[in-house]
Amino acid sequence: MASLSRALRVAAARPRQSPTGGLGPCNLSSASGPTAEKSVPYQRTLKEGQGTSVVAQGPSRPLPSTANVVVVGGGSLGCQTLYHLAKLGMSGAVLLERERLTSGTTWHTAGLLWQLRPSDVEVELLAHTRRVVSRELEEETGLHTGWIQNGGLFIASNRQRLDEYKRLMSLGKAYGVESHVLSPAETKTVYPLMNVDDLYGTLYVPHDGTMDPAGTCSTLARAATARGAQVIENCPVTGIRVWTDDFGVRRVAGVETQHGSIQTPCVVNCAGVWASAVGRMAGVKVPLVAMHHAYVVTERIEGIQNMPNVRDHDASVYLRLQGDALSVGGYEANPIFWEEVSDKFAFGLFDLDWEVFTQHIEGAINRVPVLEKTGIKSTVCGPESFTPDHKPLMGEAPELRGFFLGCGFNSAGMMLGGGCGQELAHWIIHGRPEKDMHGYDIRRFHHSLTDHPRWIRERSHESYARNYAVAFPHDEPLAGRNMRRDPLHEELLGQGCVFQERHGWERPGWFHPQGPAPVLEYDYYGAYGSRAHENYAYRRLLADEYTFDFPPHHDTIKKECLACRGAAAVFDMSYFGKFYLVGLDARKAADWLFSADVSRPPGSTVYTCMLNHRGGTESDLTVSRLAPSHQASPLAPAFEGDGYYLAVGGAVAQHNWSHITTVLQDQKFQCQLIDSSEDLGMVSIQGPASRAILQEVLDADLSNEAFPFSTHKLLRAAGHLVRAIRLSFVGELGWELHIPKASCVPVYRAVMAAGAKHGLVNAGYRAIDSLSTEKGYRHWHADLRPDDSPLEAGLAFTCKLKSPVPFLGREALEQQRAAGLRRRLVCFTVEDKVPMFGLEAIWRNGQVVGHVRRADFGFAIDKTIAYGYIHDPSGGPVSRDFVKSGDYALERMGVTYGARAHLKSPFDPDNKRVKGTY
Ligand SMILES: Cc1cc2nc3c(=O)[nH]c(=O)nc-3n(C[C@H](O)[C@H](O)[C@H](O)COP(=O)(O)OP(=O)(O)OC[C@H]3O[C@@H](n4cnc5c(N)ncnc54)[C@H](O)[C@@H]3O)c2cc1C
Repeated sequence: MASLSRALRVAAARPRQSPTGGLGPCNLSSASGPTAEKSVPYQRTLKEGQGTSVVAQGPSRPLPSTANVVVVGGGSLGCQTLYHLAKLGMSGAVLLERERLTSGTTWHTAGLLWQLRPSDVEVELLAHTRRVVSRELEEETGLHTGWIQNGGLFIASNRQRLDEYKRLMSLGKAYGVESHVLSPAETKTVYPLMNVDDLYGTLYVPHDGTMDPAGTCSTLARAATARGAQVIENCPVTGIRVWTDDFGVRRVAGVETQHGSIQTPCVVNCAGVWASAVGRMAGVKVPLVAMHHAYVVTERIEGIQNMPNVRDHDASVYLRLQGDALSVGGYEANPIFWEEVSDKFAFGLFDLDWEVFTQHIEGAINRVPVLEKTGIKSTVCGPESFTPDHKPLMGEAPELRGFFLGCGFNSAGMMLGGGCGQELAHWIIHGRPEKDMHGYDIRRFHHSLTDHPRWIRERSHESYARNYAVAFPHDEPLAGRNMRRDPLHEELLGQGCVFQERHGWERPGWFHPQGPAPVLEYDYYGAYGSRAHENYAYRRLLADEYTFDFPPHHDTIKKECLACRGAAAVFDMSYFGKFYLVGLDARKAADWLFSADVSRPPGSTVYTCMLNHRGGTESDLTVSRLAPSHQASPLAPAFEGDGYYLAVGGAVAQHNWSHITTVLQDQKFQCQLIDSSEDLGMVSIQGPASRAILQEVLDADLSNEAFPFSTHKLLRAAGHLVRAIRLSFVGELGWELHIPKASCVPVYRAVMAAGAKHGLVNAGYRAIDSLSTEKGYRHWHADLRPDDSPLEAGLAFTCKLKSPVPFLGREALEQQRAAGLRRRLVCFTVEDKVPMFGLEAIWRNGQVVGHVRRADFGFAIDKTIAYGYIHDPSGGPVSRDFVKSGDYALERMGVTYGARAHLKSPFDPDNKRVKGTY
């Protein structure tokens, strides 16, 4: 019998395939399907024989000619989506599976379900899956899904890791997820076979557990069909029919199979690693890669029964209880890509490559030493899909109306399946999910990236290899960088700019006084025989900040912030999305799209939200009304009718673009949305000295009378035509200059030259984050999301509720206002000098009433500042008096700190500074 230690020795003795400076040799990729050869030291695999396909038998039941929705793929996601569609009352839902249910990746899953992750939405999604498999399906069908609640243990071998777990524990309190931080000795009592000598501690979550793929999917299918849905096996989808409507919008018309077609307006792509192929049938880009992913199953281990599952992040391995044995798996630094995904692969497995897998064995044996003498019963190495940020791909594809994605599950498709299936069903039925799904929404990626092979491959590799790395607040990817660089990139790099990656753009993070730290080509961390960069300054700067304490660059960011508050700072915000909305119906469209009244005279600029029909906030942005123009330039297109210039956050430009185009299509507005993001740069000069500086550069009077707050003008800056907008993201007197690409460098240089004597400095987004937190400006997708209304977020002033003009989301806001707010965004300041980053629990009068969404340090007020939505545990409305009357504390890593609640910004609450009053 092969044992884990023998596997280790055999793999070590094998000749290496290629020299490497890094993490071990392996084939970069594999084009193979399942093989029959056993060249590895184990007895047998779970591989099922080839030639067992049932596709030739034809569909398991006749195809209907029409359906309201067709789900493609019968794995975890397809079954969960179908079940939730049926449960939400959708009739005419059909699932088409090429082979038999679960035959893709799902049948061989490890099925682990952990309830705690460093994201509030993910905690909610996981809780839903757990509810469905542990309770609801059984209540509905009388069948047991195979759910086993054996608990979960996260292992910390260093302080930062334990800090991360303590953060999870605090978040768990906001959601009622029981968890305990255990000492090594306490861990030994829970898991006697564990080596705890090298532990800092563990996080024990008693209600974690293990899902059974076959039991879960068959019960889901049973429950869905009982509610009227149809499951048809042995029926591969071979084509997607598309039609183009009178507006030129591409829409789904139906699916094709060898056994006939189904007319349908809606298709859901739940085809796992085959999702890219199904996407191609419809002209939809699906940015995922297929990789081998594996675990081994041991022989019986005496005393292992009923032990919790274990995740040893630092060793990159997990140990899952399997009856009286363990499954051992993990995330390698050099995973194998499956290049040519075969459509003949059903209930298949690959032979395990021990040279790749060996890296897990040492860690597993170290954690549970009895493994050294334990035999391996079988190996399980199957295909799984991985995405550029290790998050699923969901939502309606921007290229095709009615085509939804539910794929790319990065080895978490069992545990996320229930939550995501429910959200997808909502999305399909109501046009949007119930929760904030932006982190999974395909629109989080810019369209220029979703078919870029280098970006997809590099980023997917890095996110796979670093899946178990601690999620530090200021980390950045090293893969897939330098995809989009703005006109000031080289100029700023030379001045020590440390860049952050957002939406493919390199945007300034902060400025390093010791000089340039360029982002180099991706080195795969030395895997696959590539040479890892040595003395990589950028990587070193990131690593310096791998802490949950104040980061070492805290003082540098402080200088940038205080320079902005005391003199002036220049921010390169060129990565912003810059769109023109113009045409005959532009005014009607603007009235409907924007919560604020933006149809003021040309020259005005308005901060506004865009809402969904439930009153949730899809975006916040500024909208500048344009004067009619007959000559096109980057600063104004030629248009008839009305025109608006929209400036949206650069990290969410695609989301904004897709939201607006969808609304224009649905309402049939006759107008054009033009993307000028790449044609224009943008610098923002902010601070008390900004007027004096810009007065030397711009050819106009910048006094309050001549150029009031919230207005814009076309001007010359150092001789170049620019659009100047008087606005602030940081709570200071300031102007944004929107500049045609070719003029960016000379205008920037002129500003810097004029600012030298006034103390003008370069500053980046780390400073913007701190300054805007201090001022109380919202940050979309942090303290303002699609599941938050502007009323709850304290942005009622952006809603034209006093006017009779209808707008998207208005009815929901009116109902919410009439019923009274059940939650409210509150600002907290903390006297103790402790850093916070979000996810901390909020206590009010001894009860948890919410968690922190966003936190930062405010340097001018010299305090940590945190924002979170609070509710009344008794279910009542959250009035201003409720907020004011509480005693608050914020729990960070298990320790509570007294906090003061504010209903107005703690910095310059009367907004004097933006008006130029110092
Ligand atoms: C080794 C390993 C361990 C894992 N461990 C865990 C874990 O512990 N916890 C966890 O949550 N997740 C785990 N996962 C991940 C999880 O199993 C997957 O994310 C999940 O099963 C994916 O489900 P899916 O429905 O997206 O894809 P699949 O299960 O692959 O389903 C896609 C289906 O689409 C069908 N299909 C493809 N093309 C067509 C077509 N043209 N027409 C009709 N049908 C088509 C396929 O036949 C297939 O059945 C693991 C994965 C692996 C490989």
